[in-house]
Amino acid sequence: MATQGVLGGATLKEFEDGLGGQMVAPGDRDYDEVRALWNGAHDLRPALIAQCADVDDVRHAIGFARSEGLEVAVRGGGHSIPGYSSVDGGLMIDLSPMKSIEVDPEARVARVGAGVVWAELDAVTQAHGLAVTGGLVSTTGIAGFTLGGGIGWLMRKHGLACDNLRAAELVTADGRTVVVDPGTDPELLWGLRGGGGNFGIVTSFEFDLHPVGPTVAAGAVFYDGTRAEEVLRFYREYAATVPDELTTLVNMITAPPAPFLPEEWHGRKLVAFVGCYSGDPEAGLEAMAPMKELGDPVADLMGPMPYVGMQQLIDALWAKGTQAYMKAGYLERVDDAAIEAFVTAHRDASSPASEIHLQHVGGAVARGGEESAFGERDAEFVINLCAVSHDDSDFGTHERWAQDTYRALEPSLTGGVYVNFLSDEGADRVRAAYGADKFARLQALKDRFDPTNLFHRNQNIPPRG
Ligand SMILES: Cc1cc2nc3c(=O)[nH]c(=O)nc-3n(C[C@H](O)[C@H](O)[C@H](O)COP(=O)(O)OP(=O)(O)OC[C@H]3O[C@@H](n4cnc5c(N)ncnc54)[C@H](O)[C@@H]3O)c2cc1C
Repeated sequence: MATQGVLGGATLKEFEDGLGGQMVAPGDRDYDEVRALWNGAHDLRPALIAQCADVDDVRHAIGFARSEGLEVAVRGGGHSIPGYSSVDGGLMIDLSPMKSIEVDPEARVARVGAGVVWAELDAVTQAHGLAVTGGLVSTTGIAGFTLGGGIGWLMRKHGLACDNLRAAELVTADGRTVVVDPGTDPELLWGLRGGGGNFGIVTSFEFDLHPVGPTVAAGAVFYDGTRAEEVLRFYREYAATVPDELTTLVNMITAPPAPFLPEEWHGRKLVAFVGCYSGDPEAGLEAMAPMKELGDPVADLMGPMPYVGMQQLIDALWAKGTQAYMKAGYLERVDDAAIEAFVTAHRDASSPASEIHLQHVGGAVARGGEESAFGERDAEFVINLCAVSHDDSDFGTHERWAQDTYRALEPSLTGGVYVNFLSDEGADRVRAAYGADKFARLQALKDRFDPTNLFHRNQNIPPRG
C-alpha cells in the first residue's frame, strides 16, 4: 500500500482502529470509486480517505491530519467545480456516509447529515409536502451547496438554501464540536451562510422547511436557437414582471440526443426557458404562460409535475464524470451588448455539451442580506458559462470559450461572482465574491476558528495572520 510508505503501518492501523467508518487507501479495491469526484476534469489521488460515520470520526480525522501534517480536503456531495473536495497526497475527509435525515413536520424543520444529497432530502421532505431551496441537479450535496449560498428553484419565494440554515453542528480545526445557532454564536452562523467550508467541518445542518408541491407547475419550453436574440429580449422584460413564486432561467444549449427532444433537432442549437412555480399550480401555469406563447416551440415540457421530478429534470445531462468548468458573474440588466455576446457565444460554443445559463434572481434573495455572508443580492441576474465535455476533446479549448465569453460580457457585469460557481480563479475573485466589508468580517471569523488555515481547499478566506 503506497500510503504505508508515507505514514507507516502502525500509524495507519491506529487511525483505522479509531475510525467508526471506513479507511480507504491507494491499492484498496474501492479506492478509485471512493476518490472520484463529480467533476471528471479532476483526477486527484489522496494518500488516505476517511469515510466518516459520525461526528467522532470527523474529530478523529481532523486530529490525525494535524498530527501527521496532512493537507485536508472535505467532501460532502463531491460536486466542487474546481475539485477542492479531494487532494493529491493528503487526507480526504469524506462525509458521504453521514446520511441522517430527521424531519419535524409540525415545526417545519429538518436536521440533515453532511453526506446527504438533494434527491435524498427532497424525497423525505416531500413526503410531508415540504421542501427547502435545493440545486438544479439533485445529486449535488446539501453541504457545500448550502455553505456557499445555494441557488435553486424555490429561491425567489423562500430564499437561498443558506437563508434557511437555522443552526449547524461544526467541528473546528482544533477538534472542538460546537453547536452554532442564533443564541450561541450569531456571527459564526452568519459566516456559515455563504462563507463556505472555511471555519470547520459542518456535520449536521438544520433547515427551515416550507410547504411546496408535491405537484408544481414547472418544466422547460424549447425554441429554435436561431431565435436566441428574440428570446433574450422577451426575457429581460418578462422577468421584471413575474411573482416571487416563479423562478426561471434561460438555457442556451446544443440539443442533446434526449428522448424529450424531436430527433431532427438533436445536435442543433436550442434556447430554453426553464422554470418552477412554488405555489398553486393553476396560478403557476398562468404566470408561466407567456414563456410558452412565443410561438412554434420545438418542445413544450412545461406543466404540472411532481416537485421531485422537477428537481431531477436535468440530472441525466449532468452525470458523474462529466468534465466541467464554470465562469460566472452577475448582470445588473440584460442590455443589448450582453444579448449580442450571448448569441455569439451560443453559436460558437466549442463543445456541444456546453451551456449558457441566465438565471433570474431578485425576490426573497434580494430582500435577504444582513443575516448572511452571501455576497451579492442586488443583481437581477446570475450568469453561468458552463464549459462541459463528455468526450476526450481538448478541454482547454472549452475553458477558453467560457473565458472569452466572460470577457465579451464584462462591460455588462457587476464584477461580483457566486462562490459556488467559481472555478480555481485566485484570491481576488474570492474577495470580489464577498466585497471588502464581508470579506473582512469573514477573515475575523477565520482568525477565530482556523488561524492556521487547515481548511484551505475551498474558495479560501485566509486568516489575517
Ligand atoms: C452538476 C452541478 C450542478 C450544480 N447546480 C447548482 C445549483 O443549481 N445551484 C447552486 O447554487 N450551485 C450549484 N452547483 C454548485 C454547487 O453548489 C457546489 O459545487 C457545491 O460546493 C456542491 O456541494 P457538494 O457538497 O456536492 O460539494 P463538495 O465537492 O463535496 O464540497 C465542496 C466544498 O464545500 C466544502 N464542504 C463540503 N461539505 C462540507 C462540510 N460538511 N463542512 C465544511 N465544508 C464543506 C469544502 O470546502 C468542499 O471543498 C452545481 C454543481 C454541479 C457540479
